[in-house]
Amino acid sequence: MKEDLPKHRGLRKKMLTRLQEKGILDEEVLAAIGRVPRHLFHFDSTFADKAYEDIAFQIGDGQTISHPYTVALQSHLLNVQKGEKILEIGTGSGYQTAVLLELGAKVFSIERQKNLFDKTKLLLPSIGYEAKLFYGDGYKGLPAFAPFDKIIVTCGAPELPELILGQLKLSGILVIPLGAKEQIMTTFVKIGDNQYHKEEFGDFRFVPMLQNKAKGN
Ligand code: SAH
Repeated sequence: MKEDLPKHRGLRKKMLTRLQEKGILDEEVLAAIGRVPRHLFHFDSTFADKAYEDIAFQIGDGQTISHPYTVALQSHLLNVQKGEKILEIGTGSGYQTAVLLELGAKVFSIERQKNLFDKTKLLLPSIGYEAKLFYGDGYKGLPAFAPFDKIIVTCGAPELPELILGQLKLSGILVIPLGAKEQIMTTFVKIGDNQYHKEEFGDFRFVPMLQNKAKGN
């Protein structure tokens, strides 16, 4: 049932309070998260009530939807401005995609798992979210649509994918969890040709960024 009931809106409000308690103070990001019906992204209505707890969730095909806190932090670090072109690697459930759309971005998102790609491609428009979705290998980025204002990677990258970095505009921001087993949330701001300012924002655990399966892009 694709419904957003008062019960869900109430749970979402509580989730926003918890995010604030954890240090997410970005009003725009909180408002965007407040508008996305997270319970509709799990593909299974029996989980609906769990959707607003700050937990990662299995969404099939061995993949997870990221914690609300992780989505909030990555969205904040991207500093999304209306109309910006954003590349997302790891569409997954499409939840992070929806949050970026709510922030006013144009989103290009890549997923390497065909089943998940197919499901999310149906789901997003059915609940009012229009993104450009690609089945392919995120390591390659989307050269045909580059450069991007911002790039967000939502799987754990064992090392920095150079091809993706090269698709960033000047002054653009890449937000990427870097590391093999555990990841450090890292941002790279492009400050010149082949020049980047790097910052780190704590430890996280993502599903791994995998190579060479999809041949879409
Ligand atoms: N943004 C998602 C997070 C999903 S988990 C959400 O909000 O639900 C990360 C996703 O990255 C998984 O779906 C996984 O299949 C995908 N992924 C892993 N390696 C990838 C790659 N090389 N290219 C594209 N997607 C990849």
